[in-house]
Amino acid sequence: MKISKKDALQWFSFFAALPEDQPLGCRQQEIALAVFSQIELAVEARFQRLLAAIPGVQGLGPGPSTLFVGPEEHFPAGCRSCLTGTGLSAVRRTNRCDARCPFCYDFGVLDAIPPIGEGFWEIGGGRYREEDLDLLFALQGKPTGIAYVYLEPMMEIDRYYGVIRRFHEAGVHQHLYTNGLRANAENLRALGEAGLDEIRFNLGASGAADTVIQAMATAKRFIPQVGIETPMTREFDARFHAKKRDILATGIDFMNCAELHLNENNLPNYWGENLYFYRLGYLSPVFSREITLKMMREAVAESWPIVVHDCSNRTKFARDLHQGRQEGGWFGQTTYGRELSAWPFEAFLPILEDPTFSFLEEEPLPEGFRPGDIVL
Ligand code: SF4
Repeated sequence: MKISKKDALQWFSFFAALPEDQPLGCRQQEIALAVFSQIELAVEARFQRLLAAIPGVQGLGPGPSTLFVGPEEHFPAGCRSCLTGTGLSAVRRTNRCDARCPFCYDFGVLDAIPPIGEGFWEIGGGRYREEDLDLLFALQGKPTGIAYVYLEPMMEIDRYYGVIRRFHEAGVHQHLYTNGLRANAENLRALGEAGLDEIRFNLGASGAADTVIQAMATAKRFIPQVGIETPMTREFDARFHAKKRDILATGIDFMNCAELHLNENNLPNYWGENLYFYRLGYLSPVFSREITLKMMREAVAESWPIVVHDCSNRTKFARDLHQGRQEGGWFGQTTYGRELSAWPFEAFLPILEDPTFSFLEEEPLPEGFRPGDIVL
C-alpha cells in the first residue's frame, strides 16, 4: 500500500487523537505501518543521495555494518570488536552523571538510574566482583573487547583501575566513554597505566568545551586510541565547526558519528523535528544522519587526519544481528527493536506536514482503507 502523504497525514491525525490505551485494529495497523514504510523509504533515498556525494567511502564488517572515511589504521578497535568480534560486551558500574544532555537516553531520569551494587560490576547481565573475573575468563573464555558504558565513569574513576588492569592482563581490548568534564592529566595517565586501550569523548555533552578538547589532547599522551563519540545534533554540528581546527589538532584518531535515537525520555526534546523509524526499531530525527554524511564528505574534501564513521541505525541493526549469531541464536534472531512502548503518531505529524518532504511513490488507498471508510 503506497499511501499518499495527504492520506497519511489524515490517518495519523486521527490515530494521534485516539485515547492512548485504545489499540489499533489490524487494518488500522496496516495503514500505520504503510506510512512508516513510506517515510523510511523516502528518508533512505535522501541518505543515499548524500552518500553518493562522498568520494572514497569505505565499509567495514559484513553488510557492510558501518561506513567510514579517512585513514583505516585509525579506525577504533572497539568498534571493530563490536561489529566483527564477540560483540559490544557492555560493562556497567556507575549510575550517575554530572551532565544533563537533552539527547541523553536517560534525560529526566538521571537521578533514578538503578545502582549496580556496592563492589559489583554488571557484565553481560550478571553481577561480578573484580576477583571473579579470572573465574569468568576460565569458564566462558575472553571477549575480543569490552566497553565501559552506563552514565559517567569519571564520577568514580578510581574504582575502575583494578578491573581495567585485569582485563588488560587477559588481553581484552577495552574502551571507555566519558563526557570528559572531569578528565585530567592525572586520571587519564592512571587509565593509560592500568591498560585502557581506547577512550571516547562525548564532545556534544559539553558543547565542545575547551577544557574537554584539551583533555582529548592530553589523553592521546597516555591512551593508544582516542576519539569522539557523540550523537549528531544541530548543536554539536555548530559547536564542532566553531572549533574544528582545535579539535582536529588534538591528535585524536576518530570521530564516531552516532545517529541520535529517541525514547520516551529524550523524545520531548526533539518534538517538532522530522522523524523516521529504521526497520520499525530506532526512532530518529532525519537531521542526525544527514549531519553525519555531510561531515564525512567534508572530512574527505579537507583531508582530515582522522577516521570519521557513521554509527547509524543500520549499524545498530547489523550489530544486533552479529551479536545474535555470536550467541548461537536462531536465524534472524535479534534484540533490535522499538524502544517506545507505543507508536508516537503525533510525533510524525511534522514530517507529514512538511512541504519539503515527499514520498517516493504514491497511489490511491484501496477500498476499505480510505478516510471515511470504517476501518478496524
Ligand atoms: S554525558 Fe552521557 S550519561 Fe551524562 S547526561 Fe550526557 S549523554 Fe547522558
